[in-house]
This record gives sequence, C-alpha cells and structure tokens, in this order.
Amino acid sequence: MPRGITPRQPSRSGRQDKVAKATPRAKARFAKGFSAPKKSAKATPLAGRKSAAKKTLGKTAAAPKGYNPVAPERVSEILRRLDKRYPDATCALHHKSAWELLVATILSAQCTDARVNMVTPVIFAKYPTVEAFAALKPEELEPDIRSTGFFRNKAKSVIGAARKLMSDFGGEVPRTMDELLQIPGVARKTANVVLGTWFKIADGVVVDTHVQRIARRLELTKNDNPLKIEQDLMRVIPREKWIAFSHQIIHHGRAICIARKPKCAECPLENLCHAADKTWSTVEIHKSAKP
Ligand code: SF4
Repeated sequence: MPRGITPRQPSRSGRQDKVAKATPRAKARFAKGFSAPKKSAKATPLAGRKSAAKKTLGKTAAAPKGYNPVAPERVSEILRRLDKRYPDATCALHHKSAWELLVATILSAQCTDARVNMVTPVIFAKYPTVEAFAALKPEELEPDIRSTGFFRNKAKSVIGAARKLMSDFGGEVPRTMDELLQIPGVARKTANVVLGTWFKIADGVVVDTHVQRIARRLELTKNDNPLKIEQDLMRVIPREKWIAFSHQIIHHGRAICIARKPKCAECPLENLCHAADKTWSTVEIHKSAKP
C-alpha cells in the first residue's frame, strides 16, 4: 500500500460511497488501493497476478477500540474453518513408533519434513533399536544425517536421547512433558509433537515457525517468544483442539499463509484476518498484526 495516504472515513450521508464515481480525482485516489473490492476481484484469485497481489483493498488502521481478537466467537470460527479446510491434518514426518517420531522431530529442526523423510528410513534400517543408537559414536551417525543440516549437534542429540532412554526410561519414550524435557535435544516443541501425535496427549501447543507467524497475523498473540506464544494459544484455544490446531496451522502455513507472500485471496480465514502484510483484503488491516 502506498505510504502517506489515509483513506477517508465514510461520511454519515453515505456520500463517500459514491466518491469513486463522483470525481476523476477521487477515482485516481481510490485506484491507488483504497477502493472497495471489485466483483471480478472477488471471483478471481489474485495470487500470481503481480500488480493485483501487491494491492491491499482494506484500509490500514490501529485495531479499533473494543476489538477483541481472542473473543471466543472469533476463535471458534477460526477453528471451525480450519477443521473444514484441513479435516485430516496430521504430522508429515514418517514414523512407526514414538522413538522414530522423536528422532525425526529432532532432525527436522531447520530442515524440511521431506528431507527428513528421506533420511530416517536409512538410519532406522541401519540402527533398528534405541539400544543400537545408544551404542553409536556421533561420528558414526553424522554422515547419514548430514543432509538435514546442523548434523553434528543433531547426532549428539539423537545419541544422547537414546542413551537417556536406556539409562532412565527402560528404553521407552516417556509420556509426560517433565520427563521428555530431561532428554537431550528435546524442548517443548519436540515434546508436544511426540505427546500430541503419538500419545494423543494434549499437554501444550506445538509452536514452530508457521504457528508463530500465523498466530501473530491472526492476532492470537502479540508475543514473539515461542514459549509465550504457546501460553497465549493455550489460553484462547480449547484444550481438545490443541493437537489439531497445530497440525492445521502448519499445513496452512505451508500451503496458503506462506511467509513471504501469503495467498490471502485463497484463504478460508480471509475476512477474519487483519494482518498487516496481507496481499489482498476485504477487511480493515491492523498495523500491529504483523508476523
Ligand atoms: S488472510 Fe492472508 S495473512 Fe491472513 S491467514 Fe489468510 S493467508 Fe494468512
């Protein structure tokens, strides 16, 4: 949106509604980005159309007084639409046990799930048990996981985790947050993935880069620290939705609400979202709703 231009507030008489037709000057002003959505624009997705994608059709403002982005009705409408769009969303990391999921999640830091899914079948075929991993030296595992990045730290974490499971948990992945957090390489995000996806235990909300970005765009949090974001989400989202919400938002972040150029014209949450970096909008933009 061009800087330095503030759209007029509609007048009480409704005169403003006709201003685009009224004068050439007003026409030009509105053509710069403040006109109401055109019928054709609504019907046609704007993603991929360079000039159109740059346009935000809603006006920019601070969130109005009294607006509550975490009002239960708004949150439940967001959840309802996510359920409808992503009814079967689940973890994209391939795994056959809690241990395999734990290892895959450790390897997925700063790496795509597709890459991890190429690496894990190789290492689980080579080292089929937790015990086999515990007996390794990091240098032995490093070449097999090199392509996932940060492979030295990841090798130490995976082997450290295997040793901890052998020494303290009878070779089994524990099923409580406190115990999982004692394992090398495991923080709340990894623990939440394992608890939610494998054990179906909702002890928190997975906050990865997608959840972090989209929670801020949707004004469900103002924080940028993942631990605080998780606390905020746990406050506003009903517990029975914690597991599904994370999976759905991660899918949404990959498919539509991407970091650089979100595909707002295709988004099921469009008219509930006031994000400052929307590429297309039928509602007011809130300056503070930033990723
Ligand atoms: S409208 Fe755009 S910014 Fe908002 S959630 Fe959808 S894709 Fe993301």
